[in-house]
Amino acid sequence: MFDLIVKGGTLPDGRVSDIGILGDKITAVGSLETAEAGQLIDATGDLVTPPFVDPHFHMDATLSYGLPRINASGTLLEGIGLWGELKQVMTQDDIIARALNYCDWAASMGLLAIRSHVDTCDDRLLGVEALLEVKEQVKDYIDLQLVAFPQDGFYRDPTARENTIRALDMGVDVVGGIPHFERTMADGAASVKELCEIAAARGLQVDMHCDESDDPFSRHIETLAHETHRLGLQGRVAGSHLTSMHSMDNYYVSKLLPLIAKSEINVIPNPLINIVLQGRHDTFPKRRGLTRVKEMLAMGINVGWGQDCVLDPWYSLGTADMLDVAFMGLHVAQMTSPEEMQTCFDMVTVNNAKTMGLPDYGLHIGAKASLVILDASNPIEALRLRAARLSVIANGRVISQSPRANATLSLPNRPKLSRRRHTPGTA
Ligand SMILES: [Zn+2]
Repeated sequence: MFDLIVKGGTLPDGRVSDIGILGDKITAVGSLETAEAGQLIDATGDLVTPPFVDPHFHMDATLSYGLPRINASGTLLEGIGLWGELKQVMTQDDIIARALNYCDWAASMGLLAIRSHVDTCDDRLLGVEALLEVKEQVKDYIDLQLVAFPQDGFYRDPTARENTIRALDMGVDVVGGIPHFERTMADGAASVKELCEIAAARGLQVDMHCDESDDPFSRHIETLAHETHRLGLQGRVAGSHLTSMHSMDNYYVSKLLPLIAKSEINVIPNPLINIVLQGRHDTFPKRRGLTRVKEMLAMGINVGWGQDCVLDPWYSLGTADMLDVAFMGLHVAQMTSPEEMQTCFDMVTVNNAKTMGLPDYGLHIGAKASLVILDASNPIEALRLRAARLSVIANGRVISQSPRANATLSLPNRPKLSRRRHTPGTA
């Protein structure tokens, strides 16, 4: 007897299988033809996947678009300035309300694990207190991991160092940084070293905004990889953005990539954001500002797409849909072969789960009973359609349901229904 059976779905690897759930765990995968269950969901013909995972987000800023004004230049630096203005006027209740609203969107999109940076450059640490509260409130359906992020510079901002350490003392999970925003390259490198030492001493993970610029000589990822290796933090460190790598000299990159691989750095490009923020100082040709994704994947480096922003000072769109994120990444990185498109789906599910270090993630026996049923027959179709999340199950409980994206047609001599689903090789 199961509490819930998801019947006949297609798994991301193409297997067709039933999934049996008891309590908050997956307890059977295979044919459950004769089994009984309290609840049965028929997923025949639909894709069943572990939940989407976003390893890079800013939940303290989300849904603040237009407050107190919009980013006129569209640059990262104006966005940081605008966020500084907003921080002066926002309240803890505002942050909590916006974050909880975003978590509703995430739940509806099957996005059930999020790593959010939280700005620690605020003597009141309003954002930290607010997101710790949100983390507690959503814990039954979203794994929210928080990164202490000194937005205005760990050394550049006079109290950021002290406040970042306070945030970690308050229970923030991961050590963040922004070395390219420090006053000098030397200060940036020193911040990477000290922040990695803090993480090593506390047994924490590291996730740095790293080289988010078009400067080909911004090379903090080299320091981050070196410190990771020196301190024995392999596998526990993420480099977010790494956009400067787009512009770096190829010879230098040929030396850098093996160092990143050896240090087991997890990499988080954020394609929606960087395709609009980067290259703003270029005329033509205009750089895309996405890091070298395919080249890193080929080296065996774990790379996963991050969302970064939704409706905030840096990005004016977004819906908490990790398929949107992967769709943009697929285009900008030109990952168009069938294998590469499948990889793009993995990059918003299993690869990101690895970056966040999520225990019990997946569709195997013993895994957490969190999964999503999509209106698509396979991962590539899910990407093409940005498919509807028919059912979202979190810890064994159905928490969201959406209708299929069907259209009713009124056309002469044509079918009444268009689903836009398509099997290659058919009409
Ligand atoms: Zn970010």
